[in-house]
Parts: sequence; structure tokens; C-alpha cells
Amino acid sequence: MMRAALLHPLRFRRDHGFTRTQASAYLDGELGPDDRGRIESHTHMCPPCARFMAGLGRTVSALGQLRSTETPRVSVSEGVLARLRDEPHIDGAGAPPPV
Ligand SMILES: [Zn+2]
Repeated sequence: MMRAALLHPLRFRRDHGFTRTQASAYLDGELGPDDRGRIESHTHMCPPCARFMAGLGRTVSALGQLRSTETPRVSVSEGVLARLRDEPHIDGAGAPPPV
């Protein structure tokens, strides 16, 4: 598993750093096929990077779920106004006193 690291230590270290710095872009699908292949072959040989990518992937998807379930922000005054509009009106009760 770590044979490539022993055979090509410099390349392994470069790919290791590349994987860490480009992990987010990789998960977002922003990398070209060459860079994707470089990261994929490195994570197959490097258990720490495989764990790093898996953890980052879980974090990214959890964040995506948070965003999609986020309730729309309605300000208090909008909510109060909506309730006032929906309340049944009794003639004269809600009208300002005549001047
Ligand atoms: Zn690595």
C-alpha cells in the first residue's frame, strides 16, 4: 500500500500536499480529469489522505443539508404584520379614532 511512497517519496509528498490543498475543489467537482486522477490515486495509497477526504466529504454534505433545511428568515415585523392582516376585523375596532 505504501510501496509508491517508498519508491517515489518526493512525488508522494507532492501529491500529499496537493491532495490536502485541493481537497475542497475536488469535492466541489472543480478539478480537471488530470488533477482528479492525481488525487484519487494518491488517496488509494495514503490512508491519512483517504480519511481526510472522507471526513471533509461528510462535512461538506452535512453543510449542504443544513443549508437546504434552513428555514427562511422572516423578520419579526413581517410576521407581526402578516398576523395583523390575517386577523378578522371588527368594524371600527382596528380603525384609528376620528380626529
Ligand atoms: Zn497523503
